[in-house]
Amino acid sequence: MSSKTYNIGLGHNDIITRKKADSDFISFWDDQAKNLSWFKTWDKTLEWSPPFAKWFVGGTINASYNALDVNLKNKAKKTAILWEGENGDRRTLTYEELWLEVNKFANVLKFLGVNKGDRVTIYLPMVPELPISMLACARIGAIHTVVFSGFSSSALRDRIEDSGSKIVITADGGYRRGNIIKLKEVVDDAIKDLDFVQNVIVYERTKHGVSLNKKDKLWNELMKNAKASFDPEKLESAHPLYILYTSGTTGKPKGVLHGTGGYLTHLYSTFRWAFDIKDSDVYFCTADIGWVTGHSYVVYGPLMRGATELMYEGAPDYPSPSRMWDLIQRYKITIFYTTPTALRMFMKFGDSIPNSFDLSSLRLLGTVGEPINPEVWIWYFKTIGKEKCPIIDTWWQTETGGIMISNLPGLETIPLKPGSATKPIPGTQITVVDEKGDELAANTKGYLVIKNPWPGMLLTLWNDDAKYKSVYWSKYENAYYPGDYAIKDNDGYLWLLGRADDVLKIAGHRIGTAELESSIVSHKDIAEAAVCGVPHEVKGEAIIAFVVLKEGIKKPFDLLKKEIIEVVRSSVGAIATPEQIHFVTRLPKTRSGKIMRRLLKAIANNDNIGDVSTLEDGAAVSEVQDALNELKSTIKNN
Ligand code: ATP
Ligand code: MG
Repeated sequence: MSSKTYNIGLGHNDIITRKKADSDFISFWDDQAKNLSWFKTWDKTLEWSPPFAKWFVGGTINASYNALDVNLKNKAKKTAILWEGENGDRRTLTYEELWLEVNKFANVLKFLGVNKGDRVTIYLPMVPELPISMLACARIGAIHTVVFSGFSSSALRDRIEDSGSKIVITADGGYRRGNIIKLKEVVDDAIKDLDFVQNVIVYERTKHGVSLNKKDKLWNELMKNAKASFDPEKLESAHPLYILYTSGTTGKPKGVLHGTGGYLTHLYSTFRWAFDIKDSDVYFCTADIGWVTGHSYVVYGPLMRGATELMYEGAPDYPSPSRMWDLIQRYKITIFYTTPTALRMFMKFGDSIPNSFDLSSLRLLGTVGEPINPEVWIWYFKTIGKEKCPIIDTWWQTETGGIMISNLPGLETIPLKPGSATKPIPGTQITVVDEKGDELAANTKGYLVIKNPWPGMLLTLWNDDAKYKSVYWSKYENAYYPGDYAIKDNDGYLWLLGRADDVLKIAGHRIGTAELESSIVSHKDIAEAAVCGVPHEVKGEAIIAFVVLKEGIKKPFDLLKKEIIEVVRSSVGAIATPEQIHFVTRLPKTRSGKIMRRLLKAIANNDNIGDVSTLEDGAAVSEVQDALNELKSTIKNN
């Protein structure tokens, strides 16, 4: 944990919000919910029958109304979505235009027999038809379940089956690294003999020509004669808005079910506190809508706030490593939100690339998805933000619905510590406890817990209340267990140290993977690192490190190994010295870009690898497997 702090904020200092939240979190969220448009006000703010929470009971609301209709009065002609395709295609949708498309498509879905509570699977690339589909479902009260368009047919089939979707929305294809991914073919394969799927709606993105089956309907054909308005369904606040499967970093993906009123309230507030959104901003979140970040902070959050945002279709480094910086320069992006994994990649390409673009429009930078290594944080702050943009390192999960721990420059100005997500958002109580659930003293490693229900909290896991209880509410009696390992420092700042399952126990010492990886990444030649443990007779566990070098590094491996060990010894301690260091060209990652340490560990221990449906690249698995085979023989001889 680095001790240097950075004093950079946006001048806000709203003590009252913090005070109100601390004195009574229920009435605090009650106040926040009043910012939204409700058809009927709620009778009760929170109904808490642990572990099930219902927010704003008795109130009725509609998500698409809050994202679109509310903006028609003052922002009808304002750009909602600036869209750029990977191949350079461009589209712009104003709030009025987006409203119209959504209304028409809601009529289409209704015509095909979609009713309130029905499930609709959306398997689309990053095109405007994706948010249009989601918002049309929300308008009807149908439950959308978006599946990331990089998934294989078997992963898609599992999700369609689990959710019992009667409609699937897809495209003929999507562009990825210059190739056409034939999405319609994947769907055909996925729904073979799934009789409950009644129709497949096909949006023609690539127009490469697909054959249509009995169930298939073309998006454009259906939209031609669709009526231009659809009255939004007045839905109970806890009516399910969507099912979204988690990234699968730690195991089989879980079907997280989110409600409406509470979820939207959480987003409405956090979108302003964290991103300080203003009418003049041009916001760019690089997340694919197939993940929760896209649901909350590409679709619902920004639209509810009437923001203008950039939506980009393709890979972040295609056709060149400068794609993101080029987009920021051309669209004059003011707020940029991305992931540590993307930042490590950009960093690996070298500074001269971002330095040759005009990034002066930027005023706030964000990150999400994994712990950010302090080294990477500082690079982001200096090279991209030119030391004038506050960084928000936002910790949250699919299950939390929205940001839970983050610097909130739109609310207050606090000193920043690279690598710490800083403090919980107002109206939540988040702390670090030991195995028994007792709160730990400052600077002691333990488990992160959330003590009170919060508005964005998941309703349950789809069709599986028992699993919901056992995954999140069985480790501790009265607290939600996120499964992350953390530390709270003397100033009350939270440091996320990686998955609790990933913790290394070396000779009785518990070492977080994030801590160790950040130490390795602080070596100037290293771009990325992943560590895992294998059983060791004496120490309990021995550490294995996999490292990816920055572009162009030609040093001898022996010298690099020595230097890495030196860095680890001085920053974490001799106990954390890796037993083995392997140099690889890439690490196994989930489709959402997170390092799959579970896989490294499973291969190392010869365990069953489990569900790898969310793995990015099969080749990386075999590369790791080879490295490990070699490694295992060495470990035995040590
Ligand atoms: P699964 O639950 O299926 O294993 P997942 O946890 O990767 O998948 P998500 O809900 O997308 O699925 O990710 C949430 C997790 O990502 C958090 O629990 C945490 O481990 C990690 N995370 C997210 N943001 C941050 C952050 N800012 N700092 C540290 N870790 C983060
Ligand atoms: Mg998780």
